[in-house]
Amino acid sequence: MAASTTELMDMPTPRIEPAEFQRRLLSWFDQFGRHDLPWQSPRTAYRVWVSEIMLQQTQVATVIDYFERFMARFPTLRALAEAPQDDVLHLWTGLGYYARARNLHRAAQQVVADHNAELPVERLDALMALPGIGRSTAGAIIAQSTGKRAVILDGNVKRSLARLHAVNGWPGKPAVERKLWALAEIYTPATRVVDYTQAMMDFGATLCKRTQPACSQCPFRDVCLALAEDNVQGYPQPKPKKALPTRQTLMLMLEDTKGRIWLEQRPPSGLWGGLWSLPQFESQRALDDWLATHVEGPQPHAKPPAFVHTFSHFRLEITPQPVECKALNGVRENGLWYDLTDPPALGLAAPVKKLLAQAKQQRDPFELACLPGDA
Ligand code: SF4
Repeated sequence: MAASTTELMDMPTPRIEPAEFQRRLLSWFDQFGRHDLPWQSPRTAYRVWVSEIMLQQTQVATVIDYFERFMARFPTLRALAEAPQDDVLHLWTGLGYYARARNLHRAAQQVVADHNAELPVERLDALMALPGIGRSTAGAIIAQSTGKRAVILDGNVKRSLARLHAVNGWPGKPAVERKLWALAEIYTPATRVVDYTQAMMDFGATLCKRTQPACSQCPFRDVCLALAEDNVQGYPQPKPKKALPTRQTLMLMLEDTKGRIWLEQRPPSGLWGGLWSLPQFESQRALDDWLATHVEGPQPHAKPPAFVHTFSHFRLEITPQPVECKALNGVRENGLWYDLTDPPALGLAAPVKKLLAQAKQQRDPFELACLPGDA
């Protein structure tokens, strides 16, 4: 379909001939790029996909160990699809953004059902139809696993292109994002695609970094508009700030006569979906009512200080409430007694993991508290 007049007027002009951009970038990559990442050999679509999902919001240095443990447990896409969700979340504990793990698991099951356990790397739209795979991730999977031309625009690439071209506005705004995609499209070559894709990611992550980019060593310093304006930190422009609301919660640390702590599994979607957490209450009265209904011989202890866990859209102020008890009345289906001395492999919500580690440390002050899933 022909581009409209408005679209043509919006088309950005490259700062440098695409062939020259590619030549400079690849020659920098040959010398300084990352050539020995675990997902680069063997570079299968499955391994590239898992690495791409882990790398969203997380740095390479952190991801490497998680990736290797994940591959040891789920060496194939089918093994991942057939695993219980708890096993997947357990191996994700500590990486955060658990929706990524749940989507990865669901997508693997979908690929087994609809694509005979092979990621559909011939079609961008089929990849993007899978849970958790956006346009840039789909492009990265195609480029890296097949070597065919596909365009990426992850956070690192957005930052580099926004600086090189002094693109105004927050990249989350559709008009700004469209402009950055157009630039990424212009610069992407048809050859050496695997290296080019890795080079763009490495360039943003290690040279044109968020803070203190190494402009004096940059192969584009003669054409970079942000540098010419002496305003490198001004690009890309940040998301307009909204004050985060604060919510309060009480977390019940119910301990039985064997010293075990009561945990409940969260519903499959939503906050900490599918993870194991302490029972939560919005008020002291709700907590007291629950104790009166379900717990035999409750003995509350003084509350430790509250602490804050920050999510992208709100802050959660958590007050732990330790309570000893004789027994829990009635069997509750979605819960279990968590043994601190022999902890089961479960995906734990981050603040819960912290509270359990503290409880373990208080009991064994000379042992370093370490729960499964610790990085
Ligand atoms: S000159 Fe600096 S800001 Fe510009 S692209 Fe290079 S590293 Fe990034």
